[in-house]
Amino acid sequence: MKTALLVVTILASAAIDAKAQGSAYPVVTGKAYKFEQIAEGVYYATATGSMVTGSNNVVIIGDRDVMVVDTGTTPAAARAFLEDLKSITTKPVRYVVNTHFHYDHTDGNQVYAGKADIIAHEYVKYAIQNLNVLEREPFKTSQLTNVPNGIESLMQRIAAASDAGVKASLERQLVVAQQGREALKEIKPTPPNVTYSKKKVVNLGGREVQLLFLGRGHTNGDTVVYLPKEKIVCTGDLMESQLAYMGDAQFDEWITTLDALKKLDFNTDLPGHGVPFKDKGLITAYQGYLRDLTTQVASLRNQGLSPERTAQQVDLTAYKGRFPQIQGPGADVRGVRRMYEWMDENAKKSKK
Ligand SMILES: [Zn+2]
Repeated sequence: MKTALLVVTILASAAIDAKAQGSAYPVVTGKAYKFEQIAEGVYYATATGSMVTGSNNVVIIGDRDVMVVDTGTTPAAARAFLEDLKSITTKPVRYVVNTHFHYDHTDGNQVYAGKADIIAHEYVKYAIQNLNVLEREPFKTSQLTNVPNGIESLMQRIAAASDAGVKASLERQLVVAQQGREALKEIKPTPPNVTYSKKKVVNLGGREVQLLFLGRGHTNGDTVVYLPKEKIVCTGDLMESQLAYMGDAQFDEWITTLDALKKLDFNTDLPGHGVPFKDKGLITAYQGYLRDLTTQVASLRNQGLSPERTAQQVDLTAYKGRFPQIQGPGADVRGVRRMYEWMDENAKKSKK
């Protein structure tokens, strides 16, 4: 998951707009999403900024059927996605994959329920049915705290703005944010109706899609969507092009699972957030980040520091070149809290 970007852009109606937006791929721009064509019939969908959308989704089109990877952050986002999808294909969406259970990848599920099979690792079903997902992290801070705070701060900035252009831009952002908050009210957490545990193959007509569970990591049930012929993987938040949320992580297993990911024969990774990337070195860098974070947190925890203090003191700036969102020392406190909990679990296990 990641905090929604409140950026408003001027909208173009659906139009082929090759390389016009800094993309290396041809782009079709809809209202809420733009679609980068990664390969014939494979599109990477990201937000235009006209609404709060959540995850980046992937569209895979076969001769017969369409598969969508991840459903976004609200039913409204999923409906907008399906509307925009019409500029790409008229074939039916028969399969939806949730890469993992987090709200920004699954809270659009209800729009597809009954019309398409929603497929995920069995843990996703467990989590959505049992974890109180609308009251726990990451929904709790990102949606229940950050959204109202963001709206409040926009209103203050609008009141203080003297420049008319700045004010107008902030006002557009406010509308997007307020609509995003309204859209939360409609969410009914909807589990997948089809689950698997290790591997599932789906044929879309002339196109094979493999759903792979390579091990625990970002959560206990992350799916990698693999197109062996096209050499493309969709990795959800197991591997983003940026730092991922770590509040549900299994840290040591995550590193091992990323080893398994690197062994797959692919040349393009379409992550749940960020941008498409080709360099497997980024995965190695992320493994290094996870390893170093674990070492540093263990040492500060041994000195008796609270997770909050530790989150301020860790220093992963060595990875700034690979992950520019690292601005200085520190790490997301929710990830560090989870790491303390994970270390407690491990200590308990080794005592048994
Ligand atoms: Zn996530």
